[in-house]
Amino acid sequence: MSHGKTDLREKCGVIAAFNSSTAPYDIYLGLYAQQHRGQEGAGIIVCKESGEYYMHKDIGVVTQIFNDEILGKLHGNYGIGHVRYSTSGGCGKKDLQPLVVTHRDKVISIAHNGNITNAAKLKEAMEMEGSLFTTSSDTEVILHKIVRARSDSPIEKIRQGLKEVEGAYSLVLQFDQGVAAVRDPFGFRPLHVGKREAAWYFASETCAFDILGAETVCEVQPGEGYFVSASGLEHFTLDTPATPAFCSFEVVYFSRPDSLYKGRSIHNHRLALGKALYEEQPVDADIVTAVPDSSNSAALGYALASGIPLDIGLIRSHYAGRTFISPDASLRDVKVRQKFNVVRDAVEGKRIIVVDDSIVRGTTSRKIIKLFREKGAREVHLRIASPQLTHPCYFGIDMPDRQDFLVNKVPSDVLNTYLLVDSLAFLSPASLASVVGKSACQACFTGNYPMRVDPEGSRIEKRKETKDAQYAYL
Ligand code: SF4
Repeated sequence: MSHGKTDLREKCGVIAAFNSSTAPYDIYLGLYAQQHRGQEGAGIIVCKESGEYYMHKDIGVVTQIFNDEILGKLHGNYGIGHVRYSTSGGCGKKDLQPLVVTHRDKVISIAHNGNITNAAKLKEAMEMEGSLFTTSSDTEVILHKIVRARSDSPIEKIRQGLKEVEGAYSLVLQFDQGVAAVRDPFGFRPLHVGKREAAWYFASETCAFDILGAETVCEVQPGEGYFVSASGLEHFTLDTPATPAFCSFEVVYFSRPDSLYKGRSIHNHRLALGKALYEEQPVDADIVTAVPDSSNSAALGYALASGIPLDIGLIRSHYAGRTFISPDASLRDVKVRQKFNVVRDAVEGKRIIVVDDSIVRGTTSRKIIKLFREKGAREVHLRIASPQLTHPCYFGIDMPDRQDFLVNKVPSDVLNTYLLVDSLAFLSPASLASVVGKSACQACFTGNYPMRVDPEGSRIEKRKETKDAQYAYL
């Protein structure tokens, strides 16, 4: 699956493997399956029981970074991997993960999905005590905390090290005895346990287990962790009590539809969002169409609930990387035309319902609606399978500045005119909660943050990268 939005970006995906003779290839495939969680860079570290380790990480997508020759040089039967998109810190090679240190002759490495909300404060305190940092990543703060914990037991090191760490973290770690997975007490980001014969796996999303032919064993619950070594799988809990607040945007948009959330596919949850959207915001029309790929399931749910046929009104190109366009081409919306094209026969002369998963800035939605109009759609009704975005995320999703959100940019009485639609309606927070669970985080829709947040607290370095800098590596 590929994601259509460039306005919202997941920070990362992680995977760990233990006791697999094909560990480097397993981790590679697990990263490939989770590529949608980060396209800026990726890395793999694998270890042998003798303590030797091999690591390769670089900027780009997984298939650009790894090939047979590189994977053939990674020797080990356990290790961890990471795909990355970064918001806190820079985008240089030094920030790529896994991060690795040698401490008292032992190698410890870490890969992180999330965002530490008190990273700047913790880092400063440790620097004042003499710690030296080599990256601008909040993950290095966690690594320092865990390494400094006074215990030889990996589980105790993790438990002690995470005591003061706040925010969102789904982590995988590699120690000399084995690998661990641990999730913050809110459980903002997903994390799961998988198994294939004698091999164990931890991954952000269960689609990583599917590609390996492994079974999903369970979710790592908020505030809990697992460590797997030659002694088997051990479960542990963190000191801070769990207060679950899973990110509802994972269900709305980020996670792959074939991944599981609470034992059911994300696709299934999105069908339910589409059905709830119809029940709340019905409209009569000739067809329902999706904005592929991320709203396919919600559009199907809307169509099934309404009895209005689903049609393929919009085609998405899966090859739209960076292409070169003439300077005046933006006037003709070439960028959106590169990615989307309307099927005239499906929409001409018809009243259409366009179901999208979310609206951030609204600029792409407006251009897509314009394409539908150009191909003869008679009426266009836009239905959004999530509430209006109003607040920023501090828990691992990159969003534009608050003033750029559609709702903060365009007055509500002219929204329809701005978006070129006959009607516009969003899913309510209550309906979203009925699908994703009452405890799930909806802070970017409601402003009710599950924890105290300081907008500057997680910023170790002001954001430096630009889209162009990112593309320059691809
Ligand atoms: S603020 Fe929004 S994007 Fe961030 S964790 Fe909460 S629901 Fe997810």
